[in-house]
Formats: sequence, structure tokens, C-alpha cells
Amino acid sequence: MKFDVAIIGGGVLGTAISYWLSTLTNHKVCVIEKEEKVAAHTSSRNTGVVHSPFYLDPQKKKKIAKAALQSHDLWQSFAKKHNIPWSDTGTIEIALDESQHHTLEKYLKWGIQNGLAESDLQLLDYAQIEQREPNVKCHSGIYCKKDASTDYGMLTAQLYLESKQNGTQFLFSHKMQKIKNNTIFFADAKSLEFGFLINCAGGYSLDIAKQLGLAKEYSSLHFRGEYWRIAPQYSGLVGTNIYTVAKFASFPFLDPHWIRRADGTVEIGPNAVPVSDPEAYSGIGGASKAISKLGQLVSGSSKKLLLNSEFLSLVSKEWKSSISKNAMVNRVRQFIPKIKPQYFIERGTAGIRTPIITKNGTFLPETLELQSDNSLHIINYNSPGATGAPAYSAYLVRQLSDDGIIQLDKTPKQHIWNFSTLNSV
Ligand SMILES: Cc1cc2nc3c(=O)[nH]c(=O)nc-3n(C[C@H](O)[C@H](O)[C@H](O)COP(=O)(O)OP(=O)(O)OC[C@H]3O[C@@H](n4cnc5c(N)ncnc54)[C@H](O)[C@@H]3O)c2cc1C
Repeated sequence: MKFDVAIIGGGVLGTAISYWLSTLTNHKVCVIEKEEKVAAHTSSRNTGVVHSPFYLDPQKKKKIAKAALQSHDLWQSFAKKHNIPWSDTGTIEIALDESQHHTLEKYLKWGIQNGLAESDLQLLDYAQIEQREPNVKCHSGIYCKKDASTDYGMLTAQLYLESKQNGTQFLFSHKMQKIKNNTIFFADAKSLEFGFLINCAGGYSLDIAKQLGLAKEYSSLHFRGEYWRIAPQYSGLVGTNIYTVAKFASFPFLDPHWIRRADGTVEIGPNAVPVSDPEAYSGIGGASKAISKLGQLVSGSSKKLLLNSEFLSLVSKEWKSSISKNAMVNRVRQFIPKIKPQYFIERGTAGIRTPIITKNGTFLPETLELQSDNSLHIINYNSPGATGAPAYSAYLVRQLSDDGIIQLDKTPKQHIWNFSTLNSV
């Protein structure tokens, strides 16, 4: 088998790239996916929020902020066309004290810099929030009415159908094991040749880039984010998504939220349990054993980060919140005091974030694109990556065309989204 472009990973990103390539070019394209379907991992194991980029630093997170802004309407029209759940839930990002309120003021400015309209964002004091959401107690908040809830697994599955119809070959149950020159080898000793490779392997993309001698200065950590689902009779306590301002800006994983999903269910979470694998969705063993496991996660540049005592102390507490439902409920009770542990009868989503650590021991803020003569690797494609996928994938395809790696067809197939109106991110 020989393909002009081989994409590793049938998550929302790999599938969206294949969609654009199948529509805009005549290249022979395949998507290599180790599971039996698209979106088997993070692209389904997320909270389904269509994020507006008011909370993203316009300098440090420029690309994903622009992609999220542009993609909102693309996903909305696509979901409506295919009857995929879409709910204009809205979000209130809350401050619990005066210092967090200053962060909200900064977010208002960031929102405008990222292209949101002033009317999309409303700064509310505690009384206005209480009027809108009587069960939420806080200092103040930003109400963003544009935020929506959807199902990214279903959106990806529909995009897969469109891409396949345009000629993309999806090779399911194909696990890439080794790449040598322009050949991919699979577990069953079969292989395929490619002209150009695009690595969208999610939590494994850094490992694949390293196999090809790239990204030597980076390492990754994997954090499992776990949620609890509220019993249906209590889901009406709050009607809007509630997010909290990051308490520790340099460790962006401890901000509890209340999420109203597109199917009407409500979840609270997440925690951030360090795990050794991007697909370790359950199991931790005893807390002390788990904390000692942290040491095994130390590799390359993450050493400095892990040696940071504040980081270690924060992360070690996260194991407890995995074991104890009360610990997670207590976090959310800070702003929804009415909730009780017994309202949460089952575990909800569990998904894994894979932040990339630089050689200085800091989290890399932005998505990283690394290119060689015959390959492009997308690394650190984290939240709001599902929101931004339609526009970000179009940006990558435009870049490949500008670099002469792919050739855009002068008479492209009819497409659901208008490529020419998507400004570069
Ligand atoms: C808990 C959580 C909540 C989130 N909430 C939101 C949200 O509300 N809104 C939002 O916009 N974003 C959210 N995100 C982020 C978003 O889900 C991700 O940015 C996005 O899904 C990443 O998509 P992807 O295609 O890059 O990765 P993935 O979906 O992980 O896809 C990668 C694919 O590559 C395949 N693969 C890996 N290695 C190989 C191999 N060797 N051979 C073949 N196939 C391989 C995997 O099987 C997988 O299917 C959340 C993330 C998490 C973890």
C-alpha cells in the first residue's frame, strides 16, 4: 500500500485534517487508527464544551484561541445539519475573592483581544449571579452566553463519514509500531509507504516524534481528569456551566467545574491524577503506592517540574480526590454549597491530558508543530482542542500547501465549511 499522505490518529484532529485533504486535494490519504473507530480516546473522553477563548492568553495561546473562536460556528452548523446534540448552555467563570476578580478583569480584555464581541461577555457581581443562578455563591463572574455543549465523539464520527465519502481510507485496528524512512510498520508485520506523514496521535504524539529524532528537549506527563455525575433529580440545581478561575496559574489542572453536558446530564470535576500512560482510565492502588509511582514518571526535562515542592504537594493530594468522592464534592461546594456527596451516585467522564514539559521544567502553553522533510507532528494539542479542530486543521492544511508539500485542487469538492473564509490562525 502506498499513500501520498498518511495520518496517524483518528481523533478529532486527525479526522478533521483528513476531511480537508480529501475535499481540497486529489492526494491519496489514509488515517491509521489503532482502535476500531474514530474518537475512541480523548476526543470522546472530554466534557463536550464549545469554549469561547476569553480565558486564553492571546500571546501565549494565540493559535488555539483563534481556532476556537473560528470553529464555534463551524461546529454549530455541522451539529444542526446532522442532528447532533448542541445546547447553548453558556458558562459563568467565577471568582471566589477579590484577587480572582482581577483575573476576570484580565479575561475580559483577553476575550476582546481574541476576537470575541463585547456583547459576548458580561461581568456580573455576586448579586447578579445569584439572580441568574441562585445556588451559586461567589464574589463575581464572567457570563459567556456563547459557550455551548455538544458531543465531540458524534461530531468526529460524522466527519469521518464525510471524509471517507471523499476518498480517505481509514485503516482501523492498525497500530503503528515503527517508522523507517517513508515506511510505517504495524504490529502484524504488515507495512505501508507514505509520501508525507502527519502525526496526530494525541497522548502518544510526542513519543512518535521522538522515534523520528525530533522533540528531544521535551517530555510529557499524563494526568487523568475524573468527574462524578449527579443524580438526575439534582441536575437542575444550576443551569449554566460553572468554571472557576485557576487558583494556581502555573499548574492549570485544579480548577473545579460544574458541567452541563449536551444530553442534559451534569458532572463535576476534574481532579488531575498523574498516571503513567495516556490511556490509563482507571485504577490507582493505594495512595502511598500511587504517590511513589510519581517518581517513575520522572523523565528528561520533567525532573525540574516534579522537584518543585508546590507541584509535588498539589499532585500528591490529587490521588486522594480520585479515591474520595467527598474530596471532589468539597471543592465544588465552595461555590455550590447545596451539593452533597450522596447526590453523586456514579463516576462520569475520565479523560487524560498530556501536557508537554519544556527543558526548563515549565508547561508548554501552546500547541507545538514540529516538521521534518517528510513529516509533521502535532504535540500538546490540549483543551480547547476539540473546539478548535475545524479551523486549526484548516490552518495546518494551508501551511502544508504554502510549503509546497500538498497541492490544493483548483476545483475542490463541495465542502461543508468554507476553507477560503477561514483566516489563518
Ligand atoms: C478531561 C478532558 C476534558 C476536555 N474537555 C474539553 C472540552 O470541553 N472542550 C474542548 O474543546 N476540549 C476539551 N478537551 C481537549 C480535547 O478533548 C482534545 O484537545 C482533543 O480531543 C485532542 O484530539 P486528538 O485528535 O489530538 O487526540 P485523540 O482524541 O487522543 O486521538 C488520537 C488518536 O491516535 C490514536 N493513536 C495513538 N497512537 C497510535 C498508534 N501508534 N497507531 C495508531 N493510532 C494511534 C489513538 O487511538 C487516538 O484515537 C478535554 C480533554 C480532557 C482530557
